[in-house]
Amino acid sequence: MEPFAYNALPGRFVFGRGTMSELGREITALGCTRALVLTTPGQAGMGERLVAQLGDLACGHFAGAAMHTPVEVTETAMAKVAETGADCVVAIGGGSTIGLGKAIALRTDLPQVVVPTTYAGSEATPVLGQTENGVKTIQRNMRVLPEVVVYDVELTLGLPVDVTVTSGLNAIAHSVEGLYSPDANPLTSLLAEDGIRALAGALPRLVADPTASGPRSDALYGAWACGVTLGVVGMALHHKLCHTLGGTFGLPHAATHSVILPHAMAYNARAASGAMARVARVLGVEQAPRGMWDLAKRLGAPMTLAELGMPREGIGRAVDLTMANPYWNPEPLDAHGLQKLLEAAWDGRPPE
Ligand code: NAD
Repeated sequence: MEPFAYNALPGRFVFGRGTMSELGREITALGCTRALVLTTPGQAGMGERLVAQLGDLACGHFAGAAMHTPVEVTETAMAKVAETGADCVVAIGGGSTIGLGKAIALRTDLPQVVVPTTYAGSEATPVLGQTENGVKTIQRNMRVLPEVVVYDVELTLGLPVDVTVTSGLNAIAHSVEGLYSPDANPLTSLLAEDGIRALAGALPRLVADPTASGPRSDALYGAWACGVTLGVVGMALHHKLCHTLGGTFGLPHAATHSVILPHAMAYNARAASGAMARVARVLGVEQAPRGMWDLAKRLGAPMTLAELGMPREGIGRAVDLTMANPYWNPEPLDAHGLQKLLEAAWDGRPPE
């Protein structure tokens, strides 16, 4: 066994079907009596149903969560916190809504109960990205780690197929990078591998039948496993490149992960050969990067940066930004290699 260090994170996770009905008990167990429910505008109906279910335990509903946690939205939500006298927040939705709950917790230290409805994994991490004046900054702070996470498979049955696919590949990316992170430990690596196995098995079945309960359960379990991995270990080229592309060109979060993942894996294939062998074994393929590209294509995921709206002239800018702010990666960062990676991802060519 290689030497390792493991900083375990606190937190309570409840997983099952129909677990929404236990939310009142979870809020009370935290010693809270006034929950502010958070959603996006698109999931406002889900939020209203939760408010009705919670009765006197709910003090209001803020339905303005938006992608990349804009500070203006958080400020409006903070006014609602003050107006309602909330003593906890309940974020029900994907990474955007969970991000708003974390931003409120950062400012108030209010406890968070989170009900994830996508596979993004933010619920298991002490990480928050916030956007102000078009610039997204990421911070790691234990104040933003949610206290309680309730996974209810029933809530994911209506997740649209395109979000299911891109969000699932986003989750797989956490585990792929988790396997070669210098912070990896035997427990996170087991979880990472099992998370990839669960999602890679479930996603093709969900494309065929998005309401299939068994695959929905497997996918949500995989999201938990990948999210817990993301919460414990540091990420590298794949996540940081997606962050640069998302922030600079306004590309959609999960779809950008879907396009970049096989190419970032190819870039790191030689330096992270052990991690790639584990991914290949789980996928049942010879070469992990090509296997991931084939999986994404089979799932009907977006395959090119072009279709996400990135201008081809932007490739050089993305390379310059990466080289100006270098970070640890299994394969050292190199402008020529990054240029080739982004060209292949822009065109949608299979990774070499
Ligand atoms: P999202 O939260 O923006 O959700 C996408 C859309 O799907 C939204 O309109 C949402 O309302 C809708 N939706 C979600 N669940 C649904 C359901 N079950 N049924 C119907 N519609 C549903 O997207 P996301 O990919 O989950 O999150 C992306 C955001 O999360 C980004 O801002 C990203 O930076 C952040 N994120 C943060 C972390 C972290 O650790 N801090 C990790 C992953 C993602």
